[in-house]
Amino acid sequence: MVQCNGRAVLVDDIIIAYGSNQTMGHMRASQQFEVVVKALVQSGLTLKAHSRLWCSKAWPNSDDPPFVNAVLLMSTKSSAQALLHDLQLIEKDFGRILSERNAPRSVDLDIIYFSDLILNTDSLTIPHKSAHERGFVMGPLSEIYPNWIHPILKKTAFELWKNAKIGADARPMEVENEI
Ligand code: AMP
Repeated sequence: MVQCNGRAVLVDDIIIAYGSNQTMGHMRASQQFEVVVKALVQSGLTLKAHSRLWCSKAWPNSDDPPFVNAVLLMSTKSSAQALLHDLQLIEKDFGRILSERNAPRSVDLDIIYFSDLILNTDSLTIPHKSAHERGFVMGPLSEIYPNWIHPILKKTAFELWKNAKIGADARPMEVENEI
């Protein structure tokens, strides 16, 4: 918990990226996203806004099923480490297979931004070390917060989206299919 004079402090601008290229059971992508949003709120986060679901080819292995992504703007009274722990519990609940890097995964949750916190530890880098290069993060972020400024690069979400090299094909999902 972030504390000030013994009291929990609200951290107002938290950006979380959601990614999935596998749904649980027969859930549709949007149903699964709703369940994850509920789990995030149950863990103590407050939802301020979220993007639509976006779709893009899997990266780096384009033979994998396509990805559905979204970005959430939230607030929390937790510390960044405690938030990471909560996100990992939710990922685990969704049966993410941790053995293989970049393997199909039902739910991937990353902390993109934690107010102006800049952190580089073994387990946590904030702002997220590669989110600014990813169209499937900067695109959805531009939808809800186009004027967000990357605290190190000093560029807006919209500028970063336009220059994103990875997942530049990301587009809002028009027709929903199970993924
Ligand atoms: P990934 O498989 O790409 O989701 O990476 C998960 C690993 O990245 C975990 O072991 C985390 O400790 C680490 N990590 C470092 N920075 C972050 C971040 N900003 N958000 C989520 N995970 C992070």
